[in-house]
Amino acid sequence: MEHLRPENETTLNSDHMLHGLIHGDKFRCAVVVLTETVREAQSRHITDPLATIALGQALVAASLAGSNLKAAQDYVSLSFQGNGPLKTIVAEFMAPGLLRGFAAVPSLAQNLKMEAQVPRSVGEGLGIGTLTVRKSNPQDATPYAAISVMVTGEIAEDMASYYLESEQIPTALLLGVDLDSEGYVRGAGGILIQKLGSEDDVEELLIDLEGELKDIESISKLVSSGQNALQIFSKIGAFAPTQVLEIKPLRFLCLCSRERMAANLSTLSSHELKELYESVGKLEVTCVYCKNSHNFSLNEILKT
Ligand SMILES: [Zn+2]
Repeated sequence: MEHLRPENETTLNSDHMLHGLIHGDKFRCAVVVLTETVREAQSRHITDPLATIALGQALVAASLAGSNLKAAQDYVSLSFQGNGPLKTIVAEFMAPGLLRGFAAVPSLAQNLKMEAQVPRSVGEGLGIGTLTVRKSNPQDATPYAAISVMVTGEIAEDMASYYLESEQIPTALLLGVDLDSEGYVRGAGGILIQKLGSEDDVEELLIDLEGELKDIESISKLVSSGQNALQIFSKIGAFAPTQVLEIKPLRFLCLCSRERMAANLSTLSSHELKELYESVGKLEVTCVYCKNSHNFSLNEILKT
């Protein structure tokens, strides 16, 4: 067991991410425990079990994808858009450790036609379509954006195929969200192993690591049983040399603000604003990522 600084011990008690190396600097590895964040997303968006699993896996994938972002406010955004009944799932990670996201269809029961078959997996729920990955920071005039084909609708598989096709980086991923019989989140987490080195033996080592990952019991069950990222990383350490680089906290937090919502409303013309106000009886904006709402008076917006 690695020696831990006291701040790391506190970090391990709530959602967190471990970033480390395997086989010297041949692979980087991120291990994420995200149970509280996925619970918060579930309660903010009132998601049903399948949407909870899809959104939870996407949030875990976003934190793994952002695990090597260094500067504060660097972000990565994942948008899964499929032809299945779940339609769209969006998850965003902002460095050093903030997450937010939403499910376009939080409750399938309300949206499935009577004769439609209820999807049994995230893959069936999302279907095939596109995965858009955006990476940037607030100062960046031209954010990186890549669109890849979503071939299975299963988030881990489609992320691995994005990394290989768009970034040419062989990557192994495990994502898991474990629910109890009531649909409440028991545990959520994931592991990413990504090739860094270009030596001849790296491809073979990755195949070995993927094989060992398959033997690790379900990642979400490990998290549900109370294992932290350091304990999960030590399972990889049992069959390959590992090194911990950092452990940091993660949490659900959306940086939307009343000022930004007012600015969005003020892009409407005064005629449109009056019409909206008269038809709804109020000017209210709800953030799609966190569901926080703000009410505005007509005068307040017309002044801005
Ligand atoms: Zn928000």
